[in-house]
Amino acid sequence: MSNETVTLEALPRIVQAGRETTVTLRPRDPQARLPAAAWRVAVVPLGGLDRQTRHPEATACDARLTAEGLTVSLVFPSEQEYALLVERVTDGTPAAVADVRVYAVAADLFARRPFKGDFHIHSNRSDGREPPAHVAGACRRIGMDFMALTDHRQYAPSLEAIAAFANTGTDLRIFPGEEVHSPDTSVHIVSFGGRWSVNDLFATDRYRQEVAARAAAIAGLPGGTDPLPYVACEWCFDEIRRAGGLGMFCHPYWVCRSRLDVPAALTDLLFERQPFDALEVIGGYYVHESESNHLQVTRYYTELAQGRRIPIVGASDAHGCERPELFGWYYSIVFAASPDLQDVIGAVRDFNAVAVDAMNGQPARAVGPFRLVRYAQFLLREVLPRHDALCVEEGRLMVAHAAGDTAAAEQLRALGGQVARLYATLWG
Ligand SMILES: [Zn+2]
Ligand SMILES: [Zn+2]
Repeated sequence: MSNETVTLEALPRIVQAGRETTVTLRPRDPQARLPAAAWRVAVVPLGGLDRQTRHPEATACDARLTAEGLTVSLVFPSEQEYALLVERVTDGTPAAVADVRVYAVAADLFARRPFKGDFHIHSNRSDGREPPAHVAGACRRIGMDFMALTDHRQYAPSLEAIAAFANTGTDLRIFPGEEVHSPDTSVHIVSFGGRWSVNDLFATDRYRQEVAARAAAIAGLPGGTDPLPYVACEWCFDEIRRAGGLGMFCHPYWVCRSRLDVPAALTDLLFERQPFDALEVIGGYYVHESESNHLQVTRYYTELAQGRRIPIVGASDAHGCERPELFGWYYSIVFAASPDLQDVIGAVRDFNAVAVDAMNGQPARAVGPFRLVRYAQFLLREVLPRHDALCVEEGRLMVAHAAGDTAAAEQLRALGGQVARLYATLWG
């Protein structure tokens, strides 16, 4: 075996900072065996070593060769990425064989898992291409752990997607949702996970009366501002919360008919008063519209610098899953205890989510709090590709089930829990 051909993987890949962890480095090829020799592992924190530390000797330790591979007991002192430089020692001379990465996280983040989700997507029940069940299956195919269908002015399609997979044992969590369009504002709002339709309330006297009362009572708006568009938004966000959902302020920098769809003054007011639960910081823009995502991200970081903390999500807002645009370009990674609805919503509200921008197949870039972005970039590079690979077949079976393949549900059940099992091995 030549030194150059060894590909090792570390288990676990995610460890708790400050806690002693036994790491096994084993050949990725299950047939491969490491030769009996003296092995050492040098631990290099990505943040660098201080000037006095002689790398790698100061941090290297002997590894034990077992049937599994090399085992080494290590403490990773702080939250960051670490390189494990595996060396084979021959006649006292070490030769580097592999560079394997692990990530240490503090206890709060270690207790959470990353869940990929699309908070905003359309089916052919509004202006998308495919039926609701197909959209859900296609989301699993590209590695989503949860999604909600959010058709314009319609709640029922999201329930249709949920019903289509009842008793199939799919691990994709499908939640209710809708894109909410008040008659009194151009602002697009998504209700993610709400237990009833807010769109259905616009025809009621209650909506009319409450919005009129809010418009009469609101104080402190800049002179000459029509209060109605703002209070209509506020009313929608309150109603979404009442329904148990997450209210999202969508695509604020969308240019439509030669101007911003939401007037800049109204966007300013929404940032200032923050009646929403989450900002769709990365959203469904085509390549020619990518400037809008850039403005949203810049606006988010600018607000942050001014002391305003804003929960964020990323969403595809895709209107078709079988064409190479939008679908899969934008999504969220939510760090939560579980993919249950309340955990996902709670994690977003508590700033435990990042938005991912991978427009047109570009390398994925996470947006959000620096601590989470740094961790997410490691996961995107080292962990999520394996997660996504498992989801491909599950998604294919879901799409087949949606198309009437009666054997697909049984095959899907057989794959149940495979992502959870992978994560159980990757988290130490
Ligand atoms: Zn919209
Ligand atoms: Zn939309």
